[in-house]
Amino acid sequence: MPEALQSESGWAYAPAPETTSITIEDRYGLFIDGRFVAPRSRRRFDSINPSNEETITSIGEAGEADVDRAVEAARKAFRTWSRTSPLVRAKYLYRIARRIQERARELAILETMDGGKPIRESRDVDVPLVAQHFFYHAGWCDKLKWAIPGNLDPRPVGVCAQVIPWNFPLMMAAWKIAPALACGNTVVLKPAETTSLTALRLAEIFDECELPPGVVNIITGAGETGRHLVEHPGVDKVAFTGSTQVGKRIATACAGTRKKVTLELGGKSPNIIFADAAIDQAIEGVVAGIWFNQGHVCCAGSRLFVEESIHDEFVRRLQHRMSKLRLGDPLDKNTDIGAINSRDQLEKINAYLDCGVEEGACLNHDSRQELPEKGFWCRPTFFTGVQPAARIAREEIFGPVLSVMTFRTPEEAIERANDSPYGLSAGIWTDKGSKAFEMASRLKAGIVWCNTFNKFDAASPFGGYKESGWGREGGRHGLAAYLK
Ligand code: NAP
Ligand code: MG
Repeated sequence: MPEALQSESGWAYAPAPETTSITIEDRYGLFIDGRFVAPRSRRRFDSINPSNEETITSIGEAGEADVDRAVEAARKAFRTWSRTSPLVRAKYLYRIARRIQERARELAILETMDGGKPIRESRDVDVPLVAQHFFYHAGWCDKLKWAIPGNLDPRPVGVCAQVIPWNFPLMMAAWKIAPALACGNTVVLKPAETTSLTALRLAEIFDECELPPGVVNIITGAGETGRHLVEHPGVDKVAFTGSTQVGKRIATACAGTRKKVTLELGGKSPNIIFADAAIDQAIEGVVAGIWFNQGHVCCAGSRLFVEESIHDEFVRRLQHRMSKLRLGDPLDKNTDIGAINSRDQLEKINAYLDCGVEEGACLNHDSRQELPEKGFWCRPTFFTGVQPAARIAREEIFGPVLSVMTFRTPEEAIERANDSPYGLSAGIWTDKGSKAFEMASRLKAGIVWCNTFNKFDAASPFGGYKESGWGREGGRHGLAAYLK
């Protein structure tokens, strides 16, 4: 029995894996105009399970002709959907939300198999938030006149091209589709290449709920499919979540067109711990901030700023807490750290680990923690002694890797935290409300959490400053992006 699998008292750990007995077809087509169809491109690719490298199924790759077909279907559907009574639109969204709840277990298992995240997270965080987004937006359908001050005649934008990443596949689909439909738009959505399965399952749910054909179309494929989609002249709005690099390319491609664009991009968010904070809670906040979903979180608290006077004690406690995180089978209900989403992503993370060491920072992880033989794995890690100018302090790693730095005064904390091209989120830990308020108003971040981290709600707008993107998703602000 590996040491990491034993508790301190020496008791062996009993695995508690979730079953994988859900229906998965051998091959999937594209969901266009209310039906699953074979891709005209005749190309296919495999989706694999990153925790064991086994092929789960084969997926169709949409080429240019398939993108045309999907956009045409969405255009045709828009003519009736945009005029459908808001109360009827609300009924569809409500029905979809209920069906997601009914099929929650299956969705969570599939999300974990396809993407590598712990079942505890897909079951308790992702899927409930997905249902919540449909419920929340069902409520707005007939109240849009009151959603945006000054816009008494809110009208849908038209056909929305939506491209999403692999870190929260189903959640990102819900964040995009629910507000678009609530406002009377139609959608063509492209999930990420490595995590298309739950979006396809969502298509099945739309079909079960008898959503009219063409209102939502799901086309699978890689970056090239996404490029064809966002550049398609028949598209009225582009909603993209992904890397800043691709976001810039999309912004350039859409410049000079009539397309409305929202971009949710990368981040390198600060998590700031004052000496007066409740330290045990702050440690949990750091854990949630960087090790939730293996750090594949755009708003991850990946830069930790600790007040100098408590640095050594804080790091000691963090090391202790980190050594308790259980890494392994994502389908096991006790797993804290699942698999890295893909081999490519693991290579990127490993390159940053080497880079941090070369830059002179001190790498901390629990080397006793055994890694499974198959699959893509990275131990939860933090670097101490990080220079603010180091690459590991400035660039988004998008993995379970934290950079720890210090500050002496609130002024210095703000200056260091804001010294980043990104501005997605920030965390502040202090027992002084006035200090939290002052810090929150001066941090250049779209979301600021006080004495908590990574809290999401459909009613709360989410989005960034600077290179973290344009526009907001969720809440009333998120509706604005889908209305003329
Ligand atoms: P990515 O490479 O930018 O990919 C995002 C999506 O865009 C994928 O579906 C991708 O397809 C597609 N794509 C790639 N090239 C494209 C192009 N030229 N035109 C149109 N679409 C294209 O990002 P990623 O590595 O998957 O995701 C990680 C990034 O997303 C991180 O930077 C993270 O911070 C960011 N993110 C931001 C938020 C937010 O709300 N701000 C939320 C989650 C993630 P394939 O993957 O199939 O190639
Ligand atoms: Mg996969």
